[in-house]
Amino acid sequence: MKNLPSLPKEFEERMRTELGSGFNDFLESLQKKSPVSIRLNPAKPSTPQGEIISWTKHGRYLTERPVFTLDPALHAGAYYVQEASSMLLEQALIQSTDLSKALRVLDLCAAPGGKSTHLLSLINSNSLLVSNEVIRSRSAILSENIQKWGHANVVVSCNDPEDFQRLEGFFDVMVIDAPCSGEGLFRKDPGAMAEWSTDNVQLCSQRQRRILSDVLPALKEGGILIYSTCTFNEQENENNLTWLAQEDAFTFLPLSLPPSCGVETIQKGNAVGYRCYPHLVKGEGFFISVMQKKTSTKQARIKSKSRFSFASKKISEQLQEWIHPTDQFDFILQDNLLITLPIALKEEIEFLQGQLHIVTKGTAMAEVKHDKFIPEHAFALSIHLREEHFQQVDLSLDQALQFLRKEAFMLDDNRKGFALVKYQENSLGWVNLLGNRLNNLYPTAWRIRMGNS
Ligand code: SAM
Repeated sequence: MKNLPSLPKEFEERMRTELGSGFNDFLESLQKKSPVSIRLNPAKPSTPQGEIISWTKHGRYLTERPVFTLDPALHAGAYYVQEASSMLLEQALIQSTDLSKALRVLDLCAAPGGKSTHLLSLINSNSLLVSNEVIRSRSAILSENIQKWGHANVVVSCNDPEDFQRLEGFFDVMVIDAPCSGEGLFRKDPGAMAEWSTDNVQLCSQRQRRILSDVLPALKEGGILIYSTCTFNEQENENNLTWLAQEDAFTFLPLSLPPSCGVETIQKGNAVGYRCYPHLVKGEGFFISVMQKKTSTKQARIKSKSRFSFASKKISEQLQEWIHPTDQFDFILQDNLLITLPIALKEEIEFLQGQLHIVTKGTAMAEVKHDKFIPEHAFALSIHLREEHFQQVDLSLDQALQFLRKEAFMLDDNRKGFALVKYQENSLGWVNLLGNRLNNLYPTAWRIRMGNS
């Protein structure tokens, strides 16, 4: 048990009224430790351990919180640390959408990347994810987490929601995990409690409506909107949903969730949503609702203006050997950077390049320097990398941590040239072997800054 600072008065009164006899259990749950959970990356090797989170195929509870920063598998993108309730996104998507189709999916408020990495594990490789974050510094963290996850069918953008109005009717699915007052995070993040006020709840609710009305024209007629927050109050949840459903613009789609999950169904007018309370669900507070757009929307035409320079045939043939033979990819050259994109998505990504501020697209493979290819870090983490094409070095745990700190370290290895460094089954990045020493090519901005304890 931990001591919780006292709850904001208005919040406490509201919850007491709402929860009735359940209020004491709610209060008690806030004094317990948060459950620890991760979501495994099914496209990368891992040894699944821990109790399965019943609503998420690859979600696991851990019995204690390890020092995640000191686990090389985290930096290899073998799993993502994510609280369990927010993994309900999986049920929202699989119960509303035909995932065998090639879809265009937008995750509008995406940093640091929990929902986006989850979406990448659920959609097929002919589907495109646009993972957007309006705050520039946060879009860099988002891009890092996306690169670690290793998929190429994704674009990371840094745009304001209103910029998406240029993409009328473009998306089949939109996930809006809205910035909110964070009432569901009080246990995990006492800072959220310090910032809470009734005025802030009002402000968040208005901001959410602004975000929704800015971006909704970009959802296709018949498209799916998944709206979520990590807060409990009506203004940011039910009231925004009933506001959205005015004039019959959306149909709410019910989710089938076993009662043992502890998730509460919320109904207000036509609006249906699902709420997780920390005393009823093994996770933090969360709210989610799934809707289908009914109003007709024109569809933006993808104009095939050519914006990319493609790598020469000779270079493309060389790069094709770096990836699995069955992967159908194009190779583009941007400044000195060689990037690979799925052929099936090239036209859409080229179109988006003209409409959005793109931070990263596809997977960066190599930098061209004096006719030589310097392999890119993102490519070491790619699920499309053909490992057997490269020299490999297996590291001990100590060496892997030295590598991730970007320290100089020695190997008893007199080979020369670029080599993929691995810890257990996972690739961590590149080194340049120089006979009796090596250059550590781990990206400076990503290096871990923590000691061993
Ligand atoms: N979906 C993320 C995940 O699962 O990791 C968490 C998203 S967090 C709840 C909300 C995000 O919305 C934050 O990254 C925040 O920077 C962003 N945001 C803040 N103000 C915004 C605005 N006016 N429009 C769009 N996004 C905003």
